[in-house]
Amino acid sequence: MCGIFGIFGVENAEKYAFFGIYALQHRGQESVGIAVSDFENLKVVKKAGLVLSAIKKEDLEQAKGYLAIAHVRYATAGRSGAFNAQPFLKKTPIGEVAVAHNGNLINFKELKEGLLQEGAGFEYDSDTELFLSLLGKGTYAPEGLKLHPEDEQLLPYFFYVLKRVQGAYSVLFLLKDRLIAIRDPYGFRPLLMGRLKDAILFASESCAFDILSGEFWREVKPGEVVVVSKSGIRSYFPFSSSKRAMCIFEFVYFSKPESYIFNEWVYNARKKMGEVLAQEDELIADVVVPVPDSGLVPALGYSQRKGIPLELGLIRNHYVGRSFIEPTQELRDIKVLMKLNPNSAVLKGKKVVVIDDSLVRGTTSKKIVSMLRKAGAKEVHMRIASPPVIGPCYYGIDTPTKEELIATKFSVQEIAEFIGADSLKYLSLEGLKSCVEDPEDFCTACFSGQYPLEVKEEVQRIR
Ligand code: AMP
Repeated sequence: MCGIFGIFGVENAEKYAFFGIYALQHRGQESVGIAVSDFENLKVVKKAGLVLSAIKKEDLEQAKGYLAIAHVRYATAGRSGAFNAQPFLKKTPIGEVAVAHNGNLINFKELKEGLLQEGAGFEYDSDTELFLSLLGKGTYAPEGLKLHPEDEQLLPYFFYVLKRVQGAYSVLFLLKDRLIAIRDPYGFRPLLMGRLKDAILFASESCAFDILSGEFWREVKPGEVVVVSKSGIRSYFPFSSSKRAMCIFEFVYFSKPESYIFNEWVYNARKKMGEVLAQEDELIADVVVPVPDSGLVPALGYSQRKGIPLELGLIRNHYVGRSFIEPTQELRDIKVLMKLNPNSAVLKGKKVVVIDDSLVRGTTSKKIVSMLRKAGAKEVHMRIASPPVIGPCYYGIDTPTKEELIATKFSVQEIAEFIGADSLKYLSLEGLKSCVEDPEDFCTACFSGQYPLEVKEEVQRIR
């Protein structure tokens, strides 16, 4: 779970990258980094913490240039803080290269062991480093693929890397004179292209273009390699196309509601999840209460479809990060209470239907139900605008292990008892699929247990 941003062809690219990555802060709060080139040298600034507080004016003064990539990281395993912060910058046999990655390589262990045996050294404990370690190790030129003269020497090194890595990757490479954007053939994670006057932009979500008053141009397509240099933009498809497996959880929870990804507005898909949930639900209640912020959009859909008024029965304190982020259960528990406060004015004596986007461990819902009761709700019915989470993600979303997922151990009725709700209902898997245009092009592994790309080894899941 990370956010990536790239820009080519503007003075002070580092500053644009700063704002672009700031708009993607929700995709990772642990560390931030910006790599920049002035067409001569690459420089990188990396810090632990949030974009606005971590990156100082002086940091950007020291790293000025015309092309840049940036990254925000979200991790619960692997060393934290600035240590694994991206972009990684390395001297490779093809020169200095920086990389920013959103996704998860599933053959990480196997590849790393192979490289270690060949005597390679590793600086970080992240799969992303492999992109750089494999650069220069070999070349691959797909038959029949014609390369622009400027790319003839260089790109076969990248194609070789792509041949070796497996899994989810939306990835940006910064070289001193060009930017390369690549999306894996399954298209697990989003990656978009935008324009800002003459500059070319890349971002995980379209909200990063909005902040710069740039415009969305198009998606980087699954399996596409886009090269941007002074002489223009080139697009290549080095591999035969594969099944698509775009992450449906991006629509459920992860992306910002105002973003456009996977050729759809997140808001529309998410609101529809609430509408379909309402259709599948017999319940009649007095008020619909969203769990802010993530339950807000589906709650709107639910309320409008049911004709039950939506009220702000839970108020969010905006000065706290997401609760999931804390490393221990105890701290996570406190954070839920810090984050949300019940609003008795709309809860007292009411039959409340409370809507959240997803239920993972069940900790949040348990706290919310007890909070609503204490504030005077007569009945609390929990509704979840996605199906039960039954499988960990190996493709870039940080979900807990299978054992920690409450829906793998308990029935819906048992979970309702655990969280203390009068009733609990989830959106059905079919219902969820009906909320996107081409459901067969989506990965639903966390809800269906069907993994589009087989995971052979215990995958280190660190973003
Ligand atoms: P819990 O059931 O206590 O594990 O928390 C579930 C809540 O955390 C959901 O309602 C989401 O808003 C949020 N959430 C779901 N998945 C994730 C994730 N992978 N990372 C961070 N927060 C998440």
